[in-house]
Amino acid sequence: MTNYYVNNNAQNDGCHEIHREGCVCLQKIVSKTDLGLHNTCESALVKARKYFAYVNGCANC
Ligand SMILES: [Zn+2]
Repeated sequence: MTNYYVNNNAQNDGCHEIHREGCVCLQKIVSKTDLGLHNTCESALVKARKYFAYVNGCANC
């Protein structure tokens, strides 16, 4: 199980990216929401969609 986070600030395309704990991208994120522990990126995406309409997985993690 890995802890996932969603960026509270949308990207230029309007999507909110989700990241695993330890991803280098997280260091650049000012405001994020803890999605809790997930076995897969997919289940983390489902949870993130409860907060934001448009969410996407990170390209780096
Ligand atoms: Zn990432």
